[in-house]
Amino acid sequence: MNSVENRFKQYNIPAYALKLLDKKRIQKPTDIQERLIPSAINGKDVIGQSQTGSGKTLAYLLPILSRIDTSKAELQAVITAPTRELAGQIFGVLKELIDEDETSSVRAKQVSGGTERSRVMEQLRNPPHIIVATPGRLKDMVGENVINVHTATMLVIDEADQMLDMGFLEEIDPVAGKMADNLQMMVFSATVPESLQPFLRKYMNNPKHVHVKPEHATPKEMTHYGIALRHRSRLDVTMELVDRLQPFLAIIFASTKDEADELAGEMFKKQYPVEVLHGGLPSRQRKQVMKRIQNLEVQYLVATDLAARGMDIPGISHIINYSLPKELEYFIHRTGRAGRAGLTGESYTLMGEEDRKAVLSLQKQGIRFTFMDFRKGAWTELSKPLFATKQTKRKPAPASDAMPVKKPKKVKPGYKKKAMADQTTSRRRKRK
Ligand code: AMP
Repeated sequence: MNSVENRFKQYNIPAYALKLLDKKRIQKPTDIQERLIPSAINGKDVIGQSQTGSGKTLAYLLPILSRIDTSKAELQAVITAPTRELAGQIFGVLKELIDEDETSSVRAKQVSGGTERSRVMEQLRNPPHIIVATPGRLKDMVGENVINVHTATMLVIDEADQMLDMGFLEEIDPVAGKMADNLQMMVFSATVPESLQPFLRKYMNNPKHVHVKPEHATPKEMTHYGIALRHRSRLDVTMELVDRLQPFLAIIFASTKDEADELAGEMFKKQYPVEVLHGGLPSRQRKQVMKRIQNLEVQYLVATDLAARGMDIPGISHIINYSLPKELEYFIHRTGRAGRAGLTGESYTLMGEEDRKAVLSLQKQGIRFTFMDFRKGAWTELSKPLFATKQTKRKPAPASDAMPVKKPKKVKPGYKKKAMADQTTSRRRKRK
């Protein structure tokens, strides 16, 4: 069917999995897959420092599938993720792989909060080879001897930094301690903070650590706009901005749950098709939000960093930073989420005086902002950076050299082109 040789054939992965990859036209390993799959297939401990969109899920699922021994009816691999949604997403990919044809006799189950306990017990009577789980539920089930992890030789910890933040590693710890001595641990995380090290050292043996920088994961350069607030409220500027952008799907990042709730509330009052996603929401509600996004009923998603992380949200055309994250590394993760699948990659960051330090620091890290003033629906590009660095102050350059003055870019995002426009229209109609 495909004239192109599937480059995943070079790895020792099962034929049924290859068949699905072919069907989905996944033929060329991504950076992280290329660098981790060979080691992972050989049973080595691995750390994949990468984010959603890098192809990390297949980077661990394919090696796991190639190492499962289906002649043994026992649990061999446990995959953990911090949220039910993410666990569901991973389980979905896994099921697709193993259900592709009848030659696969791998059995997998999902164990996360929300599923009735008695049902889970019933389902686990015949032990699956692979379990995808959230930490709390996993720990309970292991504690109650519903799940026997002694036979498990592979453990994946996805979004490990988020697990750490949410205190979930403490729940995984006793479970990992019960697993087989020759445990292979595979850890995936957008950041690997120092505070994660004790856990990694405890369970990992000379791991192969691969760091895929976000820029490699995003298909093309982002354009970063810095929007001067000039004492106007963030809310007012955001409203003006979104009216002008008319995004296909914009994620508006807030730094706290309260800020997210407040902004979403205001937008909702003004009848924007908006949803909010943060860790304080019950998981049922988060699930509903994801469903609405998938059904193209949402045009604006107000989210906190932790809630949006790890979720594979398709079709994001714009990222708006209502406020900057406390940890600036999140800026890269936020903005890396737009611009996939041929959509424009544009980020808009609201900037007030209080953001001076953060903005200068981002610029130092190589983020090149195009600074704009945005008033009453009209854009003007600033002829020099919003915040002067020390160097420019010490040695002022002639105005004409201060910064190349680009002509104001016509802000007419490309997402309006192609089929997206139709989809947007149909979605709006649907809303009414
Ligand atoms: P992940 O980083 O695992 O969340 O994957 C992000 C998306 O990339 C998913 O929709 C995958 O189906 C897709 N993907 C994963 N690996 C590849 C690949 N080698 N080529 C093309 N798409 C891929």
